Formats: sequence, C-alpha cells, structure tokens
Amino acid sequence: MTDRRSISILGATGSVGGSTLDLIRRDREAWDVVALTAHTNVDDLARLAREFDARLAVIGEEHRLEALRETLAGTNIEAAAGTQALCEAAARPADITVAAIVGCAGLGPVMAAIERGGTVALANKEALVSAGDVMTRAVERHGARLLPVDSEHNAIFQCLADNSLDDVRWITLTASGGPLRLVEDLDAVTPEQAVAHPNWDMGAKISVDSATMFNKGLELIEAHHLFPVGLDRLRIVVHPQSVIHSMVEYRDGSTLAQLGPSDMRVPIASCLAWPERMDTPCEPLDLAAIGELSFFAPDETRFPATRLAREAAEAGGAAPAVLNAANEIAVAAFLAGQIKFSRISLLVAEVLDGGNLPPAPQSLEDVLMVDRAARARAAELLETA
Ligand code: NDP
Repeated sequence: MTDRRSISILGATGSVGGSTLDLIRRDREAWDVVALTAHTNVDDLARLAREFDARLAVIGEEHRLEALRETLAGTNIEAAAGTQALCEAAARPADITVAAIVGCAGLGPVMAAIERGGTVALANKEALVSAGDVMTRAVERHGARLLPVDSEHNAIFQCLADNSLDDVRWITLTASGGPLRLVEDLDAVTPEQAVAHPNWDMGAKISVDSATMFNKGLELIEAHHLFPVGLDRLRIVVHPQSVIHSMVEYRDGSTLAQLGPSDMRVPIASCLAWPERMDTPCEPLDLAAIGELSFFAPDETRFPATRLAREAAEAGGAAPAVLNAANEIAVAAFLAGQIKFSRISLLVAEVLDGGNLPPAPQSLEDVLMVDRAARARAAELLETA
C-alpha cells in the first residue's frame, strides 16, 4: 500500500473488527482511524478508540453514552450513542468503511456509508441479504463500491478480476460443513458444540450459522447480488479443510480458485489494500502438510438451510429478508437455550411458509418493516410452540 488511508470500523469490538484492527496495529502510520463503533461493550470500544486515536466512538445502546463519555474523559475523542449516531459514523468521510456489525442491525449504517458514495468492505452479509436490490441500486446510484470481506466472496472477487461475468460457467462457494457435519443427533447439540467451529474463530451468531449451514445459504444470496450470473450458476460444495475459499469456472473450462489459511486477516487485508496488496502476519499455506483436499455435495436433508436460502433467493422480493430475520431470532433462541438446534431451520421454514410474503421492498424503510414483521412472527411462533 502506498498512500496513508483513513478508515472507519463498524463493529470494531467483534471478531472481524478485531482482525481488522490487528492489521492496522501492525502498520499504524499507514492508517488514520475516523470512527469505531460497538453495541454494548463500552470498555473495549473506549480502549480501542484510545489506542487507535479514533476521532469518534459510537456505542449502539443509548443508555451507555454517559459511561462511554466517562471512559473517554481526558481525550479528544468524540462520543455518541444510538442508531442514528451509528449511521452518522458510517457517513463520515473515510477511504474505507469496514461493515462488521452482526445482523440486520448493521443495515442502516451500511446504507449510510453507501449513500455517502464510499468504499465499503462488507462483512455484514445479513445487511445485503435483507436489502438485496435496494442496496445494489443504492451502490450504483451513489457511485459507492462494495468490497467483499466474506472469505468466499473475496475469493470469487479475486478470481473474477477483470473477466466478464458473461464468460462465467459456474461460481462455486466452498463450505467447511461446520462442526456438526458428522454429528448424528442434531437435537442433542448444545450451543457450546455449535459455536466450536473446526477451522474459523468467529462471533457466536455466524458460528451457529455455519453449523446449520445458514451461513452458506446467506452467502449464496450474497453472491447472487454481488456477482449476478444467475442463481442457476451458483453452486455449493462442502470442503472440510477450508483451504480453497471459492472458485470460478469459465466457459473455456478453466477453473480459478483462491487458496489461503483460515484466517480472516487475509480477505480483510485484500479489501483494505485493494487494488494493491499489503503484508499480513498469516501463516503461509503449507499444502504438503495439509496433504489432502476433499469435496462433498451438501446434505440438504440434514441441513436444509441452503435449500431454504436458494428458494428464498428464487422467490426474491421480501423472501430473503424474511429468511434472515427468522434465522436471527431462531439463532438467538438457540443460544439462549430456548430451542433445540434442529428447530432453527424449522422455524425459518415456518415463517417463510406462514402466509403471503409482503411486497418486494423498494426502500430501506420497507426492508426494515419486513425485517420487523418477520421477527415478530418468528417470536410469536416460538411462544406458541
Ligand atoms: P461479533 O459478534 O464478533 O461482533 C459483532 C460486532 O457488532 C461487535 O462489535 C458488536 O458490538 C456489534 N454489534 C452487535 N450487535 C449490534 C447492534 N444491534 N447494533 C450495533 N452494533 C452491534 O461478529 P463477527 O465479527 O463474527 O461478525 C460480524 C459480521 O461479519 C457478521 O455479519 C458475520 O456474518 C460477518 N462475517 C464474520 C466472519 C468472522 O470470521 N467472524 C467471517 C465472514 C463474515 P458489541 O461487542 O458491543 O456487542
């Protein structure tokens, strides 16, 4: 990377936020930190804001503003709180805004960064899944740019490079299969087992999504918007070693793949330095030590999430936002010990099947309305079960 760059990180206290800050810490002089945000974690947010000399720190929960101000006392760091403040942080000029809030809660801030016409390194897949065309149209309208942080989409982005989408025969998303691929009794799975991912160290929600395969389902919808080749040309293959992060096959029979260690700092660095490259401390890939790479078709009978996601993407309109919202409620209920693991997919299917879908959202407000209604329906079904 040649020039000093400015950066904001939404969700700075999380797993992706932490990996991003780790890269910045290693080359402090190259980065000017504009804004950092969190939801509840005042202490870590204030510590990071001090360490990185951020200009603005925003906490999502409004009642924590006073605590944040106290913790930042004696610094010049501006403190703010609440949903509107998160959007304002995202709208502050920065060369790159890393969108690493978990869930549809990140949608408003992502849209604010897009409306500023900025470059958004998007980890927050739920935002794109829910808003779909509303977001991609806004990207076009405001001259913004989305750089995919998700390792699979980052791999595809790199494999596509300057090639035409017309030349693409298949895009293949790889899936590790999660920690439960070989577990027989899915009803007996505990939250601790579900979050123990074999290859990646991630936040709780995405870890459960990996276990159910909803992560891959959300990624399928995400890929459908980022790389519009048509759903029939998007495939999923289970690849337990997570060495190949995804592949693009061209019409001449060439398949390009991106390989790397299971370390989010690799795709994050690819976004931070894009279109250049930067150093990371990641382990070099030792293929001889890895030995074998294996591939399997996904088992959609035991893990119906990818089928549900494909059906929602095919239905289009509000369906992906409904699927995402129902899944967020189901994952939270599972993590809280309220439902069994296998109920997650069942609940999502029930919410999707349970009546007429709302009309296709045309604006951010429409998407948020669909999201709220689907959450309410999922919560209602949980109570009556
Ligand atoms: P974490 O749970 O580790 O972190 C989430 C971050 O978002 C935290 O900073 C948290 O703040 C903040 N946050 C949570 N809820 C809200 C809210 N309602 N409003 C505002 N901020 C909120 O998540 P991950 O880092 O694992 O994942 C972030 C996103 O990146 C997800 O969409 C995930 O799917 C995606 N992703 C993650 C990968 C990974 O390796 N972790 C890989 C690829 C994609 P606080 O700490 O205060 O709660």
